[in-house]
Amino acid sequence: MTVMEGTDRQEIVIIGGGIIGCTTAYYLTRHPAYDPSKHSITVIEATRIAGGASGKAGGLLAVWAYPNNIVPLSFKLHQDLAQEHGGEENWGYRKVSCGNLEATGRGRNELERLGGQAGMSLGKRSGEKGRKVTNGGRSALPKDLDWILPDLIKGYEKMGGSKETAQVHPYQFTMAMIRLAEEQGVKVIIGSVQAINYAEASPSPTPITPPAEDNSYLSGPPSPALSSVSLGSFSSGRSTRRKVKSVTYKDRETEEIHTIPSTTTILAAGPWTSKLYPSAPISGLRAHSVTITPASPVSAYALFTEITIPPTPPSPSYRYHSSRNIQAEPVSPEIYSRPNNEIYVCGEGDMEVEVPETTADVEVDENRCDDLIAQVSSISDHIRLGRVTRKQACYLPILSVGGHGGPLIGETGTEGLLMATGHSCWGINNAPATGKLISEMVFDGKAISADIGQLDPRRIL
Ligand SMILES: Cc1cc2nc3c(=O)[nH]c(=O)nc-3n(C[C@H](O)[C@H](O)[C@H](O)COP(=O)(O)OP(=O)(O)OC[C@H]3O[C@@H](n4cnc5c(N)ncnc54)[C@H](O)[C@@H]3O)c2cc1C
Repeated sequence: MTVMEGTDRQEIVIIGGGIIGCTTAYYLTRHPAYDPSKHSITVIEATRIAGGASGKAGGLLAVWAYPNNIVPLSFKLHQDLAQEHGGEENWGYRKVSCGNLEATGRGRNELERLGGQAGMSLGKRSGEKGRKVTNGGRSALPKDLDWILPDLIKGYEKMGGSKETAQVHPYQFTMAMIRLAEEQGVKVIIGSVQAINYAEASPSPTPITPPAEDNSYLSGPPSPALSSVSLGSFSSGRSTRRKVKSVTYKDRETEEIHTIPSTTTILAAGPWTSKLYPSAPISGLRAHSVTITPASPVSAYALFTEITIPPTPPSPSYRYHSSRNIQAEPVSPEIYSRPNNEIYVCGEGDMEVEVPETTADVEVDENRCDDLIAQVSSISDHIRLGRVTRKQACYLPILSVGGHGGPLIGETGTEGLLMATGHSCWGINNAPATGKLISEMVFDGKAISADIGQLDPRRIL
């Protein structure tokens, strides 16, 4: 165990190598005040870069995403990043049309008769209550959306064109961010952070209080900050002024324990945040997704769907025997076509399996993936006759505080400890704004590019 103290270098440690941690590393190196001779930046990632949701998400970017205090900035930064670093080529950045479609899918029996991706269960989950599609019938379907069977369409509503919606390949984007950050001196360590260690801070004249703004979303009185942390070296409350001193991690390869100094620690551990910071109200919601190489190339669309599939009576060979198979409940897979002749499909979330120890331990329920494949095959022959290339699952980080959709970006009330987490279903969209704002907090002492008082973690912790 080594702890270096007494240097005047600023030691910035980012915990978590998902899109938030990696994009934050990138923006720290792009800040005018960054000087590698004075600042060291280390990203500590437990398993592998982008091994969680950041490598398995859809990648839709939309001006109407939330929260609206960072979305316009982030949407614009995505555009700038793509322009500056060849995003089109390097991470599949492109403008994409987006729509909400309602369809009656073909039943399992018919798909089986037709062949292709058909022999899977048609598991039916409660459809997400999205916007009701107002435009009726096949005539509403855009002409270039020719890979969806028009006769099955009940309605289609446009949700975005080239000015409102775009996309990236999240894995490629995250890898590009960390590579660009490494080129500017950022160090990546593959190891699991075991503890954030603290020292007594010198008394501060400024009381540690959250900004006095609308607190209506708080579910109750704020919990005593950090008082229940069980990671040994850490115990703090609002009344005791502490500051970050070092971070202890276990190296993934050697299993050795190391402690590195830290003057600023940025917690970007997504759904794992509360394992390191128990009073952070962040949990994980598992979601499955699949990727498919379509039978022939498809136009650029991101589709929210509501598909009603005719009921299928149970049969002896049927995979499930629950009532969900014989009810015609709508399902709502999201379908994104990607530039490299790939279609990505994700389904609804489930709370069946708790967030596991690491991204490498995420349980993939093949049946749920097969359901997704059958659902989207039921409205597209390009998909039905395509080839499934990946079945996967991951956890999105959600904030379990009523009335607050997240994320939490900013100071925690402990000197030197910042948080960038809880991005729910818009972390890909909001990563650049998060990274830029955190870099401003680190080097300028406050967020400059957007007013993010509403996202201040101290309002909740
Ligand atoms: C199915 C699905 C589709 C989605 N589609 C979209 C979309 O289209 N558009 C959009 O904007 N968003 C989308 N999202 C949301 C987006 O994926 C997430 O908000 C985002 O990836 C969160 O990033 P993160 O870096 O906070 O978390 P993660 O990607 O989970 O990264 C956290 C990292 O921290 C590491 N870590 C955890 N604990 C430790 C520790 N103790 N020590 C070291 N490292 C640790 C983990 O290993 C992990 O790599 C989607 C999410 C899902 C699940």
